[in-house]
Amino acid sequence: MATLKRSYPDNVAGDFFVDNTCIDCDMCRQIAPSVFQEASDHSFVYHQPGSDREQLRAKMALVACPTGSIGARSKPNLEAALAAFPEKVDDNVYFCGFASESSYGAASYLIQRPEGNVLVDSPRAARQLVKKIEELGGVATMFMTHRDDVADHEKLHGHFGCRRIIHRADSRGIAAEHFLEGDEPVELDSQLTAIPVPGHTRGSVVLLYKGKYLFTGDHLAWSEERGGLTAFRRVAWYSWRHQIESMKRLLDFNFEWVLPGHGRRGRQPAAIMRRKLEECIEWMIEVA
Ligand code: SF4
Repeated sequence: MATLKRSYPDNVAGDFFVDNTCIDCDMCRQIAPSVFQEASDHSFVYHQPGSDREQLRAKMALVACPTGSIGARSKPNLEAALAAFPEKVDDNVYFCGFASESSYGAASYLIQRPEGNVLVDSPRAARQLVKKIEELGGVATMFMTHRDDVADHEKLHGHFGCRRIIHRADSRGIAAEHFLEGDEPVELDSQLTAIPVPGHTRGSVVLLYKGKYLFTGDHLAWSEERGGLTAFRRVAWYSWRHQIESMKRLLDFNFEWVLPGHGRRGRQPAAIMRRKLEECIEWMIEVA
Protein backbone atom coordinates (compact mmCIF):
# COMPACT_ATOMS: atom_id res chain seq x y z
CA MET A 1 0.00 0.00 0.00
CA ALA A 2 1.43 3.35 -1.01
CA THR A 3 1.69 5.91 1.76
CA LEU A 4 1.66 9.68 1.52
CA LYS A 5 4.47 9.90 4.05
CA ARG A 6 6.79 8.23 1.53
CA SER A 7 5.47 9.95 -1.60
CA TYR A 8 7.97 11.57 -3.95
CA PRO A 9 8.10 15.37 -3.86
CA ASP A 10 8.01 15.48 -7.67
CA ASN A 11 4.39 14.24 -7.78
CA VAL A 12 2.16 17.04 -8.99
CA ALA A 13 -0.37 18.11 -6.32
CA GLY A 14 -3.64 16.20 -6.35
CA ASP A 15 -5.23 12.83 -5.69
CA PHE A 16 -2.78 10.31 -7.17
CA PHE A 17 0.84 9.92 -6.04
CA VAL A 18 3.78 7.50 -6.28
CA ASP A 19 5.79 6.64 -3.19
CA ASN A 20 9.43 5.72 -2.79
CA THR A 21 8.87 1.97 -2.96
CA CYS A 22 8.67 2.31 -6.77
CA ILE A 23 11.09 -0.04 -8.58
CA ASP A 24 10.90 1.90 -11.86
CA CYS A 25 9.45 -1.03 -13.82
CA ASP A 26 7.64 1.22 -16.36
CA MET A 27 4.27 -0.55 -16.06
CA CYS A 28 2.33 2.56 -14.94
CA ARG A 29 3.89 4.69 -17.67
CA GLN A 30 2.76 2.18 -20.28
CA ILE A 31 -0.77 1.93 -18.92
CA ALA A 32 -1.35 5.63 -18.20
CA PRO A 33 1.28 7.66 -20.09
CA SER A 34 -0.64 10.90 -19.66
CA VAL A 35 -0.44 10.58 -15.87
CA PHE A 36 2.89 8.92 -15.01
CA GLN A 37 6.34 9.89 -16.16
CA GLU A 38 9.88 8.74 -15.41
CA ALA A 39 12.32 10.64 -13.21
CA SER A 40 15.90 9.42 -12.77
CA ASP A 41 15.04 6.11 -11.09
CA HIS A 42 11.32 6.11 -10.42
CA SER A 43 7.91 7.10 -11.75
CA PHE A 44 5.92 10.08 -10.53
CA VAL A 45 2.58 11.70 -11.27
CA TYR A 46 3.18 14.62 -13.63
CA HIS A 47 -0.47 15.19 -14.51
CA GLN A 48 -3.47 14.33 -12.34
CA PRO A 49 -6.07 12.33 -14.28
CA GLY A 50 -8.98 14.48 -15.44
CA SER A 51 -11.30 12.68 -17.85
CA ASP A 52 -13.11 9.45 -17.00
CA ARG A 53 -10.71 7.60 -19.28
CA GLU A 54 -7.64 9.08 -17.57
CA GLN A 55 -9.13 8.21 -14.20
CA LEU A 56 -9.64 4.62 -15.28
CA ARG A 57 -6.13 4.33 -16.74
CA ALA A 58 -4.57 5.74 -13.55
CA LYS A 59 -6.56 3.26 -11.46
CA MET A 60 -5.52 0.41 -13.78
CA ALA A 61 -1.89 1.44 -13.22
CA LEU A 62 -2.52 1.43 -9.47
CA VAL A 63 -3.93 -2.09 -9.69
CA ALA A 64 -1.15 -3.38 -11.97
CA CYS A 65 1.78 -1.84 -10.04
CA PRO A 66 3.88 -4.74 -8.69
CA THR A 67 4.91 -2.96 -5.51
CA GLY A 68 1.73 -1.13 -4.54
CA SER A 69 3.63 2.13 -4.97
CA ILE A 70 0.73 4.13 -6.41
CA GLY A 71 -1.76 5.68 -4.04
CA ALA A 72 -4.76 7.99 -4.16
CA ARG A 73 -5.81 10.25 -1.32
CA SER A 74 -9.50 9.80 -2.13
CA LYS A 75 -9.48 5.97 -1.74
CA PRO A 76 -11.26 5.62 -5.11
CA ASN A 77 -13.50 2.77 -6.19
CA LEU A 78 -11.25 0.34 -8.09
CA GLU A 79 -13.92 -2.06 -9.30
CA ALA A 80 -13.74 -1.09 -12.98
CA ALA A 81 -9.91 -1.05 -12.94
CA LEU A 82 -9.75 -4.51 -11.37
CA ALA A 83 -12.18 -5.80 -14.00
CA ALA A 84 -10.23 -4.23 -16.87
CA PHE A 85 -7.57 -6.98 -16.90
CA PRO A 86 -6.81 -9.02 -18.89
CA GLU A 87 -6.92 -6.16 -21.39
CA LYS A 88 -7.23 -6.95 -25.08
CA VAL A 89 -4.10 -6.07 -27.06
CA ASP A 90 -5.24 -7.44 -30.41
CA ASP A 91 -7.75 -10.02 -31.53
CA ASN A 92 -7.48 -12.88 -28.97
CA VAL A 93 -4.27 -11.68 -27.29
CA TYR A 94 -4.53 -10.02 -23.88
CA PHE A 95 -2.20 -8.16 -21.51
CA CYS A 96 -2.66 -9.44 -17.93
CA GLY A 97 -1.64 -6.35 -15.89
CA PHE A 98 -1.26 -7.38 -12.21
CA ALA A 99 2.53 -7.45 -12.32
CA SER A 100 4.57 -9.18 -9.66
CA GLU A 101 7.50 -7.71 -7.76
CA SER A 102 9.33 -11.04 -8.03
CA SER A 103 9.31 -10.60 -11.82
CA TYR A 104 10.42 -6.98 -11.44
CA GLY A 105 7.09 -5.86 -12.84
CA ALA A 106 7.31 -7.88 -16.07
CA ALA A 107 4.29 -8.00 -18.37
CA SER A 108 2.48 -11.29 -18.97
CA TYR A 109 -0.02 -12.19 -21.67
CA LEU A 110 -2.94 -14.51 -22.31
CA ILE A 111 -3.75 -16.07 -25.69
CA GLN A 112 -7.36 -17.20 -25.79
CA ARG A 113 -7.94 -19.99 -28.28
CA PRO A 114 -10.22 -23.00 -28.77
CA GLU A 115 -7.21 -25.33 -28.64
CA GLY A 116 -6.54 -24.20 -25.06
CA ASN A 117 -5.49 -20.84 -23.65
CA VAL A 118 -1.82 -19.99 -23.23
CA LEU A 119 -0.45 -17.81 -20.48
CA VAL A 120 2.89 -16.31 -21.46
CA ASP A 121 4.90 -15.70 -18.28
CA SER A 122 3.22 -15.38 -14.95
CA PRO A 123 1.26 -12.44 -13.56
CA ARG A 124 0.54 -11.94 -9.88
CA ALA A 125 -2.12 -14.50 -8.94
CA ALA A 126 -4.61 -11.84 -7.84
CA ARG A 127 -8.10 -13.17 -7.12
CA GLN A 128 -9.81 -10.78 -9.54
CA LEU A 129 -7.44 -11.66 -12.39
CA VAL A 130 -7.74 -15.40 -11.80
CA LYS A 131 -11.53 -15.08 -11.95
CA LYS A 132 -11.39 -13.13 -15.20
CA ILE A 133 -9.01 -15.68 -16.73
CA GLU A 134 -11.43 -18.42 -15.68
CA GLU A 135 -14.20 -16.57 -17.54
CA LEU A 136 -11.97 -16.46 -20.63
CA GLY A 137 -11.52 -20.25 -20.49
CA GLY A 138 -8.73 -20.78 -17.97
CA VAL A 139 -5.16 -21.73 -18.78
CA ALA A 140 -4.11 -24.95 -20.55
CA THR A 141 -0.44 -24.02 -21.01
CA MET A 142 1.86 -21.63 -19.21
CA PHE A 143 4.87 -20.71 -21.33
CA MET A 144 7.72 -19.27 -19.28
CA THR A 145 10.10 -17.29 -21.49
CA HIS A 146 12.90 -17.44 -18.91
CA ARG A 147 13.57 -17.91 -15.24
CA ASP A 148 13.11 -14.25 -14.16
CA ASP A 149 9.44 -13.88 -15.07
CA VAL A 150 7.87 -16.96 -13.46
CA ALA A 151 6.28 -15.07 -10.50
CA ASP A 152 3.23 -16.98 -9.21
CA HIS A 153 3.50 -19.92 -11.62
CA GLU A 154 3.10 -22.44 -8.76
CA LYS A 155 -0.16 -20.90 -7.57
CA LEU A 156 -1.53 -20.56 -11.10
CA HIS A 157 -0.51 -24.12 -11.98
CA GLY A 158 -2.21 -25.29 -8.79
CA HIS A 159 -5.40 -23.42 -9.69
CA PHE A 160 -5.66 -24.10 -13.42
CA GLY A 161 -3.78 -27.41 -13.63
CA CYS A 162 -1.94 -26.05 -16.67
CA ARG A 163 1.12 -27.58 -18.30
CA ARG A 164 4.18 -25.39 -17.69
CA ILE A 165 6.91 -25.06 -20.30
CA ILE A 166 10.40 -23.69 -19.68
CA HIS A 167 13.83 -24.30 -21.16
CA ARG A 168 15.89 -26.81 -19.22
CA ALA A 169 18.77 -24.34 -18.94
CA ASP A 170 16.56 -21.92 -16.98
CA SER A 171 14.74 -24.51 -14.90
CA ARG A 172 16.87 -24.71 -11.78
CA GLY A 173 14.45 -24.60 -8.85
CA ILE A 174 11.45 -24.08 -11.16
CA ALA A 175 8.94 -26.90 -11.54
CA ALA A 176 7.46 -27.55 -14.98
CA GLU A 177 5.81 -30.33 -16.92
CA HIS A 178 7.63 -29.77 -20.24
CA PHE A 179 11.29 -28.84 -20.54
CA LEU A 180 12.67 -27.51 -23.81
CA GLU A 181 16.18 -28.65 -24.73
CA GLY A 182 18.86 -27.34 -27.09
CA ASP A 183 18.80 -24.32 -29.39
CA GLU A 184 16.56 -25.49 -32.24
CA PRO A 185 13.01 -24.12 -32.66
CA VAL A 186 10.28 -26.46 -31.42
CA GLU A 187 6.73 -26.57 -32.84
CA LEU A 188 4.52 -26.93 -29.79
CA ASP A 189 1.48 -27.22 -32.06
CA SER A 190 0.40 -25.90 -35.48
CA GLN A 191 0.17 -22.31 -34.12
CA LEU A 192 2.93 -22.08 -31.53
CA THR A 193 6.68 -22.21 -32.09
CA ALA A 194 9.17 -21.96 -29.23
CA ILE A 195 12.45 -20.39 -30.39
CA PRO A 196 15.41 -20.63 -28.00
CA VAL A 197 17.28 -17.32 -27.79
CA PRO A 198 20.15 -17.65 -25.30
CA GLY A 199 21.54 -14.28 -24.25
CA HIS A 200 19.56 -12.55 -21.55
CA THR A 201 19.66 -15.93 -19.79
CA ARG A 202 21.01 -19.26 -21.07
CA GLY A 203 17.51 -20.67 -21.30
CA SER A 204 15.61 -17.69 -22.74
CA VAL A 205 12.99 -18.71 -25.31
CA VAL A 206 10.59 -16.57 -27.36
CA LEU A 207 7.17 -17.80 -28.42
CA LEU A 208 5.81 -17.20 -31.92
CA TYR A 209 2.04 -17.46 -32.27
CA LYS A 210 0.44 -17.80 -35.71
CA GLY A 211 3.49 -16.27 -37.39
CA LYS A 212 2.28 -12.88 -36.17
CA TYR A 213 2.77 -12.42 -32.43
CA LEU A 214 6.25 -12.79 -30.95
CA PHE A 215 6.31 -12.99 -27.14
CA THR A 216 9.86 -12.05 -26.30
CA GLY A 217 10.37 -12.07 -22.53
CA ASP A 218 13.45 -9.94 -21.91
CA HIS A 219 15.14 -10.79 -25.22
CA LEU A 220 13.71 -8.10 -27.51
CA ALA A 221 11.42 -5.09 -27.13
CA TRP A 222 10.18 -2.04 -28.99
CA SER A 223 11.86 1.25 -28.17
CA GLU A 224 9.96 4.47 -28.71
CA GLU A 225 13.19 6.51 -28.40
CA ARG A 226 14.92 4.46 -31.10
CA GLY A 227 11.78 4.09 -33.22
CA GLY A 228 12.65 0.43 -33.59
CA LEU A 229 13.61 -2.76 -31.86
CA THR A 230 16.04 -2.96 -29.00
CA ALA A 231 17.69 -5.32 -26.53
CA PHE A 232 19.07 -4.69 -23.05
CA ARG A 233 22.83 -5.06 -22.91
CA ARG A 234 23.08 -4.15 -19.22
CA VAL A 235 20.98 -7.19 -18.31
CA ALA A 236 22.44 -9.72 -20.75
CA TRP A 237 23.12 -11.99 -17.76
CA TYR A 238 24.31 -14.91 -19.86
CA SER A 239 26.05 -13.37 -22.88
CA TRP A 240 25.55 -10.38 -25.19
CA ARG A 241 27.51 -12.19 -27.91
CA HIS A 242 25.11 -15.13 -27.74
CA GLN A 243 22.17 -12.75 -27.68
CA ILE A 244 23.34 -11.24 -30.99
CA GLU A 245 23.50 -14.73 -32.53
CA SER A 246 20.04 -15.51 -31.16
CA MET A 247 18.72 -12.27 -32.64
CA LYS A 248 20.10 -13.23 -36.07
CA ARG A 249 18.20 -16.52 -35.90
CA LEU A 250 14.93 -14.59 -35.55
CA LEU A 251 15.47 -13.35 -39.13
CA ASP A 252 14.21 -16.80 -40.21
CA PHE A 253 10.73 -15.89 -38.91
CA ASN A 254 8.04 -13.37 -39.80
CA PHE A 255 6.19 -11.48 -37.10
CA GLU A 256 4.22 -8.26 -36.77
CA TRP A 257 3.99 -7.90 -33.02
CA VAL A 258 6.68 -7.82 -30.34
CA LEU A 259 5.22 -8.45 -26.89
CA PRO A 260 7.96 -8.25 -24.26
CA GLY A 261 8.15 -8.80 -20.53
CA HIS A 262 10.07 -5.57 -20.05
CA GLY A 263 10.12 -2.71 -22.50
CA ARG A 264 7.42 -1.54 -24.85
CA ARG A 265 5.18 -3.50 -27.17
CA GLY A 266 5.51 -2.83 -30.88
CA ARG A 267 3.50 -3.51 -34.01
CA GLN A 268 4.62 -3.06 -37.61
CA PRO A 269 3.98 -4.83 -40.91
CA ALA A 270 6.21 -7.93 -41.08
CA ALA A 271 8.55 -6.44 -43.72
CA ILE A 272 9.19 -3.35 -41.58
CA MET A 273 9.62 -5.46 -38.45
CA ARG A 274 12.25 -7.47 -40.30
CA ARG A 275 14.12 -4.28 -41.26
CA LYS A 276 13.91 -3.09 -37.66
CA LEU A 277 15.32 -6.43 -36.53
CA GLU A 278 18.24 -6.07 -38.96
CA GLU A 279 18.89 -2.55 -37.65
CA CYS A 280 18.73 -3.82 -34.09
CA ILE A 281 21.32 -6.51 -34.86
CA GLU A 282 23.63 -3.91 -36.46
CA TRP A 283 23.29 -1.74 -33.36
CA MET A 284 23.94 -4.71 -31.03
CA ILE A 285 27.16 -5.50 -32.91
CA GLU A 286 28.24 -1.84 -32.77
CA VAL A 287 27.84 -1.61 -29.01
CA ALA A 288 29.29 -5.08 -28.29
S1 SF4 B 1 4.15 0.45 -11.87
FE1 SF4 B 1 4.71 0.86 -9.75
S2 SF4 B 1 6.80 0.09 -9.54
FE2 SF4 B 1 6.39 0.21 -11.71
S3 SF4 B 1 7.18 2.24 -12.31
FE3 SF4 B 1 5.01 2.51 -11.81
S4 SF4 B 1 4.93 3.10 -9.66
FE4 SF4 B 1 6.95 2.24 -10.06
